[in-house]
Amino acid sequence: MIDVPKIFGIDVFNDDVMKTYLPADIYSSLKKTIEEGAELDDNVAQVVATAMKDWAITKGATHFTHWFQPMTGVTAEKHDSFLTVKNGKVIMALSGKELIKGEPDASSFPNGGLRSTFEARGYTAWDPTSYAFIKDSTLCIPTAFCSYTGEALDKKTPLLRSMDALNVQAKRVLKLFGKEPKRVISTVGAEQEYFLISREHALKRKDIIFTGRTLFGAKAPKGQELEDHYFGAIKPKVASFMKDLDQRLWKLGVLAKTKHNEGAPSQHELAPIFTTTNIAVDQNQITMELMKNIATEHDMVCLLHEKPFEGVNGSGKHNNWSMATETGENLLDPGNSPKENAQFILLLCAVLKAVDKHQDLLRICVASAGNDHRLGADEAPPAIISVYLGEELEGVLTDIEKHKDFVLKGKKSNMTLGAMSLPKLRKDTTDRNRTSPFAFTGNKFEFRMVGSSLSCADPNTVINTIVAETLDEFATRLEGAKDFDKELHNLVAETIKEHKRILFDGNGYGEAWAKEASTRGLLNLRTTADAIPHLIDEKNISLFTKYGVYSANELYSRSEILLENYVKTVNIEALTMLEMAKKEIYPAVNRYIAEVIEVIKNKEAVDLNAFAERELAKKLTDSNDGLRAEIKVLESLLEEIKGEQDHNKSSRFYCDKILPCMARLRHYADTSERETDGKYWPHPTYADMLFSI
Ligand code: ADP
Ligand code: MG
Repeated sequence: MIDVPKIFGIDVFNDDVMKTYLPADIYSSLKKTIEEGAELDDNVAQVVATAMKDWAITKGATHFTHWFQPMTGVTAEKHDSFLTVKNGKVIMALSGKELIKGEPDASSFPNGGLRSTFEARGYTAWDPTSYAFIKDSTLCIPTAFCSYTGEALDKKTPLLRSMDALNVQAKRVLKLFGKEPKRVISTVGAEQEYFLISREHALKRKDIIFTGRTLFGAKAPKGQELEDHYFGAIKPKVASFMKDLDQRLWKLGVLAKTKHNEGAPSQHELAPIFTTTNIAVDQNQITMELMKNIATEHDMVCLLHEKPFEGVNGSGKHNNWSMATETGENLLDPGNSPKENAQFILLLCAVLKAVDKHQDLLRICVASAGNDHRLGADEAPPAIISVYLGEELEGVLTDIEKHKDFVLKGKKSNMTLGAMSLPKLRKDTTDRNRTSPFAFTGNKFEFRMVGSSLSCADPNTVINTIVAETLDEFATRLEGAKDFDKELHNLVAETIKEHKRILFDGNGYGEAWAKEASTRGLLNLRTTADAIPHLIDEKNISLFTKYGVYSANELYSRSEILLENYVKTVNIEALTMLEMAKKEIYPAVNRYIAEVIEVIKNKEAVDLNAFAERELAKKLTDSNDGLRAEIKVLESLLEEIKGEQDHNKSSRFYCDKILPCMARLRHYADTSERETDGKYWPHPTYADMLFSI
C-alpha cells in the first residue's frame, strides 16, 4: 500500500519545503512575491537558489533547467549541471541569477517574425508562482520566455498577463458588493482524454509514428456502439499504467483524482482537482508528458491526438473554469443570500456577454489541424460556440429580462435583483447537456472544445481576457450609478436581452442547430484556416492590447505561427500518406491481386468458373487504380503549393484542396483493405489496435 499523503508533492519545492529550507525573512519575502507579485530582490533570489539546489541534490538531481512553454505547444528545457569550479575545486551551485534568468538559444523556436536572426536570443524568467519540481534527476524551474525586446515568445506570459487583467477587473466588481479580497484568480481543472495502444502495433504504422493519428484504416467490425467501454472495468495492463501515472503525478504535486475508461475502445480519461490557472496549465503539460513516457515503459503508446481513429470518438480536454478569491471562495457558486445571488448573476452575465461577443476568439484558441477533425464530428461540440445554462438558470434569466417575478414550484420569488432569492440549483450531473461547447455545470463553466493535445494556456488566456473586459464595462457602469440596485437590475436585464442568442439548450450535434445558429447570427468558423485569420481582426487587437495581454506584434506573430503550424502538420500528413500508399499499400494490394489471378488461371484451366475471383480482382484493381490516380493528384498539389510564403494562401490551399484529396486517397486504400487477405495487409488494423490491450 502506498501512503498517498506521504508521497504527495515530494518532488516539488513547495510551501512546506520552502519553510524548512529558507530563513524566515527570506521565506516571507518570497511569499510576498508569489502572492502579491512583489519584486524579488537579488539577495533573496540568491538564498532561494541555494536552498533549491540543496534540496534538489537530496532528491538526486545533478542538473537544472528553465522549463518553458514555447509556441510549439509543448514544453522545452535545456539542462545545465550544478557543476561549478570555484578556487580550483568542483562544487555544486545555483546562483540567484541562474534561477531568475536563463538565455536559451531561442533561434529555433517559432517566433512568427518577432525576432530577427541578428537578435536570436530570448530569455527565460522564473515564474515563482508555479513551484519548481524534480524530473529525471533535473530541477525544473517553471519560467516565462520572452525576446530581448520584451515580446512574449511563449504561452505562459500572456496567460499570466490575462490573470492580472481579470484580477484587477473582478476586484472592482466585488468592491461594489462590499468585498475586498487581496486577489481574484481564475481556476482550472483540465480533464484529459487519451488513447492507449500497443507499442508493437504503433511502431508498424508510419502514420502513427509521424503524425500521431491513423491516415488509413477500415472500420473494425465492432466500434463503440455497444457502449460497453465507457466507465467499464479497467483492463489490468491499463490499470497498471494508470497506477504508475497517478503515483508519479502525486509525487509532482498534481492532484490526479479521477481515472476511467472513455466512450471509445482503448480511450481513457484523467481528471485532476482544479487549481490556479497557470499551475493547472503547467500540470497539464506535465501530465501529458508523463502519459507518453509511462506508456512507453508499459510497452504501449499514448495517443494524445484529437482524432487518432476515423469513425471512433476523438479526444478532448474539458477545460473547467471559474474565478475564486485568494481564500478559495468560488465566485461562480450561486450564493445563499440575495446579495450573493445578485453578485453571482452579474458574474454569470459577464461570462455570457464575453462568450457571445468573442465567439471568434473562443473558436480560434482551440483551432488546430487535429482538432478540426473532432469539432463538428458526431461526438464533439460543433465549431459553433453556444452556452448551456440548464433549464432552471435560463428560466431565472428570462424572468429577470422580462422583469417578471419568478415562480418556482409554486413559490413566488421576488425578481428584483437586489432582493432576490435564487432557487437552489440542482447539481445533477445527468442533467447536463453533453453536446454544449460551453456549459455551466453548477459552479463553473466547462469549455469542451479544447483539443486533447493542445496546451490549455491559450484558451484560458482568452477566457480570462474576455471576461475581464466585460467586468471592466460592468464595473464602470455600476461605479457611477446613483441607485445601485436599480442600475444593477437594468444592466443584467439588458445584458440578457442583448446576448441571449448565445444560450442553447438543445442538441449541439444536429444539423438543425447549425441552421438555427446561422439565423441567430452566430459564427461558424469550421476550420483552422477559416478561424485563425480573425485573430488579428481590429476588435481582437484592441481587446488584447487594452488589457496588456498581447501586443499587436505578438498577435500578428501568433497568427503566422498558428497558420504555419497548420500547413506543416497537414503537409507531413500528406507526405506520410504518399509514403504509405506508394511503398506499402499499393504493392500489397497488387500482391494479393496476383494471387487471385493465379486462382482464376488455375480454376479456369480445369474448366471451373472463377466469376467471384474475377469480380474481386476487378474491384481491387479499380481501387488500386484510384489510389494511384489520387497519389498523382496529391503529388501535383503539393508541388503547386511548394514554397508559398503567404500562410493565409497556403492554409486555404491545404484546407480546400489537399485535405479533400487525402480523403479520396484514403477511401481507395480503405476499400482495398476490406477486400484484401489479411496476411498481405502491411499495417495493424483498427481491430488490432483498438481491441488488443
Ligand atoms: P465531471 O462530472 O465533469 O467529472 P467534476 O465536478 O468532477 O465534474 O469536475 C470536473 C473537473 O472540474 C475537475 O477537474 C474538477 O476539479 C474541476 N472543477 C471543479 N470545480 C472547479 C472550479 N471551481 N474551477 C475550476 N475547475 C473546477
Ligand atoms: Mg466534465
